[in-house]
Order: sequence, then structure tokens, then C-alpha cells
Amino acid sequence: MDKDSKDYKEQMQAEHSTPLHTGRGKGEGPLLSIKDLHASINGKEILKGINLTIREGEVHALMGQNGAGKSTLSNVLVGHPAYEVTKGSVTFKGKDLLAMSPEDRAHEGIFLSFQHPVEIPGVSMVNFMRAAVNEQRKYKGQTALTASEFLKLMREKRAIVELDGKLANRSVNEGFSGGEKKRNEIFQMAMLEPTFAILDETDSGLDVDALRIVAEGFNKLRTPQTSAIVITHYQRLLDYLKPDIVHVLLNGRIVKTGGPDLAQEIEQRGFDWIKKEVQTLP
Ligand code: ADP
Ligand code: MG
Repeated sequence: MDKDSKDYKEQMQAEHSTPLHTGRGKGEGPLLSIKDLHASINGKEILKGINLTIREGEVHALMGQNGAGKSTLSNVLVGHPAYEVTKGSVTFKGKDLLAMSPEDRAHEGIFLSFQHPVEIPGVSMVNFMRAAVNEQRKYKGQTALTASEFLKLMREKRAIVELDGKLANRSVNEGFSGGEKKRNEIFQMAMLEPTFAILDETDSGLDVDALRIVAEGFNKLRTPQTSAIVITHYQRLLDYLKPDIVHVLLNGRIVKTGGPDLAQEIEQRGFDWIKKEVQTLP
């Protein structure tokens, strides 16, 4: 079915007319609170004052043209060392996120699905994931999984995203197609069960069926507490993930925020009208 057709849109609306999770967005205080965040890379300021609050259970879509700073924001939130935060604050679950190591941010439940997943030759998926899962368990004061417990978990989670068992036996992302890498990102997310996920163009490079599997996989993994920032250029992913709030990032600032309608308007009209609105601001 053509995604622009009325039938497709009506079908999507009907499928999502009942909330997937009750209590969505009704968490106590904010889960993530970003205030006046400025960040640079190689001395060049990319983020120029981001303000963003995400509550428990909310899914926020982040849209904007290439180069706007979407991946930069993602990388800053997970603590990528190449980015320097020059101003502002970020609190996560009431803690100073910027003061935490990248490892502790992951242990606290932040997960980034990379726009360009890296290959790690010589490190098998099994060993990589086992180390990651057990590190996280240790942080939470839980005992390490035994080999058989771990393999059972792998099998369960692999099924959710229909990841081929053969891939799980290879080195991390080595020789994976673009679509397989993206599917593997969601598999990793499934294994780590984050409370806050950032999906950075996870839909790019996926065919329609893989997109559906990845999106449905995300929805299956989601709990009423799971929050996310979903970065995408396409309405199709948002049809599945149903964002509560949509933001437009332009030149390192959030210049427009709205409901799901805003994403639909962008799909139809592009970004130029938003740029013009920004230019005419006093
Ligand atoms: P988006 O994800 O919205 O497309 P990015 O956050 O990737 O945007 O990039 C924002 C800006 O930062 C771009 O102008 C890009 O060229 C610049 N940039 C990103 N990485 C680097 C880097 N390593 N060195 C210099 N500039 C960079
Ligand atoms: Mg990007």
C-alpha cells in the first residue's frame, strides 16, 4: 500500500487508536532534562542552546535537515569524548548526566542506536553482548548470567527482531549489510532493555519489511516507563512508533515543537516554511 494513500493513513490511525501503553507520559518528574545545552566539536559550536524535557514513557521525534546537529545531540547525551559541552546542563533521573562516564550512562539505562554502526572485527556478537549484559547486571548488583541463561536470553531477543542466528555467531557487524546492522542495533537494545533509547536514523537503509520488524520490535520491548528520542526523516517510522511530541532542530537549536501532526506537515511541506518562520521571529 502506498504510504501516502488515504487508506494507508487510515489503517495506521486505526491500528494505533488504542494506546499501546496506558500511563504513557504520566511519570513523576522529568526523566531527562536538557537546559541551554551548548556543545562543540573540533572547536566548532554545533549545539547552540538546546532545551528539552522528556518524561517517563514519552517518545519524542527529532527531525531536521542533515547537519542540523541531531547526531551531535545523541552523541553528547551518551558521552562521546569527541564532543565538548561548553555550557548548559543535563539531568537524567535527577542525576547530573554530564558528570557521568559513558559506561555509567549506559548502566543507568541510556542506549544509543548509532546512525552508522561500527564493525568490531574479532569480537563475536555473543561475547560482546555477554560482556555488556553482565557489566550492566554487576552495576545493578545482580549476579552474572550463566552461559546457558545468556544463550536463552539471546534466543528470545533475537526472535523479537527476527535476527538471523548466523549473524549472532559472527563478529559484531562485520560484513553485515546496512539493514542487518540496523536490525542488530535493535537486537542490542532488546538485550540491554534501556529506560531511555535514542534511535538515530535506525530506519535508514531498511526495506519496508525490516522497518516494520524493527519498529514492532521496539514497541514490543517498550514498557510504560521506556522513553525515547527517535531521529528520522520519514513519517513511516513515526506511524509505527507514535511519538508524543515532535521537535525540529535547525542550526543547533530546537526551533519548533508540536504533536504528531507536525511530522506529517514536514513530510508534506519540507522544512523551508519552518526556516522562514524562524527568520521572521523578532
Ligand atoms: P545531523 O545528525 O543533524 O545530520 P550532525 O550532528 O551529524 O548533524 O552534524 C552537525 C554539524 O556538525 C555538521 O555541520 C557536521 O559537519 C559537523 N560535524 C559533525 N562531526 C564533526 C567532526 N568530527 N568534525 C567537525 N565537524 C563535525
Ligand atoms: Mg545524523
